[in-house]
Amino acid sequence: MLFKDVLVDESLKKRLIGLVKENRISHAQLFLAQAGSHAFALAMAYAQYICCEHPGEDDSCGTCPSCAKFAKLSHPDVHIIFPNCTTNEVKKDPDFTQFAAKFRQFVFDHNYHIDINDWLMELGGENKQAYINTRDCAFIVNQNSIKSYEGGYKIYIIWSADRLYRDAAPKLLKTLEEPENKTLFILITENTEKMLSTILSRTQLVKIPKLKTEVIQQQLMKEFGIDEVQAADIATLADGNYNRAMELMNDDSDYKDMLAQVQLILGSMTSLAQPMPNKAEVNFLEVRDCFDSIIARGREYQKNFLAAFIHVLRAMLMQNSHQEAVSKASSMEKDIIERYAKVFSLKNVSQIFDECNRTMYHIERNGNSSLVFTDWYLKVAELIAPRP
Ligand SMILES: [Zn+2]
Repeated sequence: MLFKDVLVDESLKKRLIGLVKENRISHAQLFLAQAGSHAFALAMAYAQYICCEHPGEDDSCGTCPSCAKFAKLSHPDVHIIFPNCTTNEVKKDPDFTQFAAKFRQFVFDHNYHIDINDWLMELGGENKQAYINTRDCAFIVNQNSIKSYEGGYKIYIIWSADRLYRDAAPKLLKTLEEPENKTLFILITENTEKMLSTILSRTQLVKIPKLKTEVIQQQLMKEFGIDEVQAADIATLADGNYNRAMELMNDDSDYKDMLAQVQLILGSMTSLAQPMPNKAEVNFLEVRDCFDSIIARGREYQKNFLAAFIHVLRAMLMQNSHQEAVSKASSMEKDIIERYAKVFSLKNVSQIFDECNRTMYHIERNGNSSLVFTDWYLKVAELIAPRP
């Protein structure tokens, strides 16, 4: 992975390159990433630059033997460690080495935009807990006592480090604290709250910010050859998360359907919220059909629908408080915002967001979608309707 292909702020790339040039590489770094950022790609580009035999001013050469090994994710001194679990093929005592080939393919298939939920699906253990377990940590500790193959750095990239199994993590602490010379640990997580404080205190924090909408838009145009308006629509809805943008990209009709559904649900909630004499008829059959079709499209779609709902409400909030964010809304979103922002009471908006997030949580944990959405609809409608 070359820095030029990593979708992060240029200033962050410069900072990491500066550390290498000035020989100030801290031996344990924690990449704290926003969901859908290109954190894994950045870690690989950084590692590649450190190992490159002819590094340039702002990128690896891309052609030396070391770079060639990176391109295949097969450098013998670079170990990529990731969560794993028992599967149909590995029935007991799993460790990451048994899934290394599968993981490499997964990274290539997703162009380094990897997401833990996708990886769990790939493992076929969607409802299982996957961890970086004691065997994985023992591997690191053992490797650490062996010299590097090529005489340079030994690099451990620990992806989804928040899934370090609690009992396994202490094994790593001593290694993190007293590494051998020329050893680098890069831990990647989206969630520092789930990390052990003892590990946090031994690592240097590198924050990887959310992607800018314009960056996602440009990348979508480049990667998929779509026009500016469509790319802007998708980038806005993706809200800094490139994985979500690609999901939306895979089926553009999804995106348009989703906004139409948000509009229908919002419309019915708004009608319910009108005071009695003007109360508009709500077509509950239509509402039910809408939910049926959301549910039929699976859990990922259901979560995206809720994300779109939150996104539209947030834009209305900004419209109501005269902030400029609406100019960034996509064309279809603008229609919805203009239609409902005035009639929509957003007094309880933080509670509405809480309800949406709680609902996403239940969907992720395989709650009965039909019940979960009915509950969500009634609660949010009540939060919108002024109480008598
Ligand atoms: Zn090179």
